[in-house]
Amino acid sequence: MSEFDYDLFVIGAGSGGVRASRIAASHGARVAVAEEHRVGGTCVIRGCVPKKLLVYGAHFAEDIHDARKFGWEVADCKFNWTVLRDNVLAEVDRLEGLYGQTLDSHKVTVFKTRATLIGPQKVRLADGQEISAERILIATGGWPFVPEFPGSEHAITSNEVFHLDKLPKRVVIAGGGYIANEFAGIFNEFGSKVTIVNRGDTILRGYDEQIRDRLLQISMTKGIDFKFNAPFQSIEKNDDGTLTVHLENCDAITADAVLIATGRTPNTKGLGLEDIGVELDEHGAIKVGDDNQSSVPSIYAVGDVTNRIQLTPVAIREGQAFADSVFGGKPTVVDYKNVPSAVFSHPPIGAVGMTEAEARNKLGSIRTYTSDFRAMKNVLAGRNERALYKMIVNAATDQVVGLHMIGPDAPEILQAAAIAVKAGLTKADFDATVALHPSMAEELVLLK
Ligand code: NDP
Repeated sequence: MSEFDYDLFVIGAGSGGVRASRIAASHGARVAVAEEHRVGGTCVIRGCVPKKLLVYGAHFAEDIHDARKFGWEVADCKFNWTVLRDNVLAEVDRLEGLYGQTLDSHKVTVFKTRATLIGPQKVRLADGQEISAERILIATGGWPFVPEFPGSEHAITSNEVFHLDKLPKRVVIAGGGYIANEFAGIFNEFGSKVTIVNRGDTILRGYDEQIRDRLLQISMTKGIDFKFNAPFQSIEKNDDGTLTVHLENCDAITADAVLIATGRTPNTKGLGLEDIGVELDEHGAIKVGDDNQSSVPSIYAVGDVTNRIQLTPVAIREGQAFADSVFGGKPTVVDYKNVPSAVFSHPPIGAVGMTEAEARNKLGSIRTYTSDFRAMKNVLAGRNERALYKMIVNAATDQVVGLHMIGPDAPEILQAAAIAVKAGLTKADFDATVALHPSMAEELVLLK
């Protein structure tokens, strides 16, 4: 008999925590998981999944408009936010149920409550119950970061945006990253007047400059306003319920909703980590090694709480690697090289590998290839929106070290192309592949 109640206690039933729990249990471990919000975590409940469904919903605005050019007689359409919102939330409920079932079927005990650490091998639940475990995995994810300024309480974050009572006519979005650009596209397609307000002069830092510029240009053409170098000063709530946003270096803006999308911070506050000696970095993230182990040997962490790459599939890989290494006798280290990513803006972006600037810095001698084209569908629709594909090649080896795309379905195409980049294929390998015509993806093998 073990001296512990469980072999593994997981705090947080999001993407990383659920994967780790399920796999550890399948390796024979006795596992429990505590979740204070809802099983599924950020991605399923208030992130990737409901966001992608809103992106689909929003894109109908363009599809319905363009359909007329393809011969469809489309009556005037009206968008009903509450119908979409409720359908999306119902889908979220369904997925939450499936996640719960997965844990049940793997005999993982679920405590739907908050757990905090009271020792290297002990947690306390909100009702006071104390539980011991040989190992503890922290998978508590991140939480929206809201800068401090007067009136910030009037703003919403990505936590609340899926639950709005009605569609705001005017939206101000703070930040220039993933969430800001994705929701700018969503609200703009629904007909809201959108203004993105950024503290700097760059959107989507980390993405290739040409691709960012293309999104900026297309977004502005679609009617999204951008204010750069304009940090928030305050938000004032007016008597009629509207909000006035005061900015540095810029006129005030009145809006019906203000969405703050200025990054996410690791969810480590109040967990008792520091009291038992778990080291955190300057952002409050749990410091872990390649094996996901913290400075306290019995405590591990995976996912956004470690602030490595804040992406769901990465958290899932980390959860799997942890469980296989610790409970499956199969030491596994996650490979963070060439992780593909996407921004589900309108149009979307997909990218893998180095940007041109990174490649120049790291490799010195590179070749770049671009295809700047209008998708066939956009041509017939009369939509003056150009896609841009860009390939970065190491001049010394001919290896493709980066692919960056903006255009219809770019993430879908990029996922397959990322296999080639990950496998270290060369430009010659791309060239040797016969084009699949007519498609947008064929541009990847026709780059000159
Ligand atoms: P991002 O890190 O993408 O962008 C944050 C933005 O906020 C940047 O423009 C940044 O400016 C700005 N900012 C940061 N701090 C401040 C501050 N104190 N005051 C004003 N502005 C500030 O964060 P998001 O919130 O958009 O998304 C959070 C994370 O969630 C992402 O990093 C991503 O990992 C994940 N995510 C992934 C998605 C996907 O895969 N498609 C979709 C949505 C989220 P600056 O550039 O100057 O630092």
